[in-house]
Amino acid sequence: MNFELVIIGSGPAGNTAAIYAARAGIKVLQISGNQLGGQLTSTSEIENFPGVKALPGIALMDVMQEQVKSLGVEIMYDTVVSFKKAEDNFSVLTEYSGEITTKSIIIATGANPRLLRINGEKEFWSKGVSTCATCDGFFCKGKKVLVVGGGNTAVEDALFVSNFAESVTLIHRKDFLRAEKAMQERLFKNPKINVMWNQELVEIKGNADNSRVGAVKIKNNLSNIETELPMDHVFIAIGYVPNSAFCKDFVQCDDDGYIITSDTKTNISGVFAAGDVMDPKYRQAVIAAGNGAIAAIEVQKFLNK
Ligand code: NAP
Repeated sequence: MNFELVIIGSGPAGNTAAIYAARAGIKVLQISGNQLGGQLTSTSEIENFPGVKALPGIALMDVMQEQVKSLGVEIMYDTVVSFKKAEDNFSVLTEYSGEITTKSIIIATGANPRLLRINGEKEFWSKGVSTCATCDGFFCKGKKVLVVGGGNTAVEDALFVSNFAESVTLIHRKDFLRAEKAMQERLFKNPKINVMWNQELVEIKGNADNSRVGAVKIKNNLSNIETELPMDHVFIAIGYVPNSAFCKDFVQCDDDGYIITSDTKTNISGVFAAGDVMDPKYRQAVIAAGNGAIAAIEVQKFLNK
């Protein structure tokens, strides 16, 4: 299969790049990745994407995908294992669909939730430990819930889960949150949510028969005092790790794995990156979409279209 452009990823960056590229007459293939629609599909409500007053993340991504399809973009439901330079082209190796030849590539693979790697996290994964409040919040009806983190995701998770839970405890390693002020105000006003400062989660323990989460051990990082709290569910919301492992030996990345770009151009001519995989700072859907548009415009210049 020969294409002028392969876009890897189907979040806001990948979809916007696909829309711009298709409208520029570029022969484009979009490879969706594991999670069609990307991270936004697990975000409850989007209220800061212009043109969309309020919509669940999954609904916004459905609209974007429809727009991409309506422009005739070919979509492959697969993941990319690696790619390499092959004469004037690139050879992209997919997990199930073999090799694809393309003149250019946009990497828009996003990022995945960061984990704590503490005792109990793996053991009780999906048995009370998760990173997706939108997916699992409903199962917290009448439960005691812990949320870890200080960013928008942690605050959004705590607020969402408070609709179901008996109580929500949000712990953060600092004594202030980095979440938006408007969201913080809603958090502090919520009578079900208790915020504990300078606390770190050190262990997740099981219930009586060890089948699910039953308690957590937290530590005050100023006093070193450890406290055990009965707990039924833990949401870990401590940021993201960029999905660049498959290409980090080929394109230049920073120490945290974010692809280094200039106007979305990577160090390899013909390879571009857009969205959360190259943005350690803002990580907003609208910015990812903007980067996707820039990447597609740069691809047009590269292909002399
Ligand atoms: P984030 O903004 O990177 O925040 C991560 C939080 O986790 C920070 O408070 C950080 O602490 C903490 N943290 C990181 N590593 C930790 C560790 N090992 N142990 C304990 N705590 C740790 O990530 P995010 O909240 O997931 O948000 C990601 C991006 O998506 C942001 O740009 C955010 O604005 C955006 N977002 C937007 C919305 C919305 O607008 N509705 C919703 C969700 C996310 P420090 O503060 O100490 O660094």
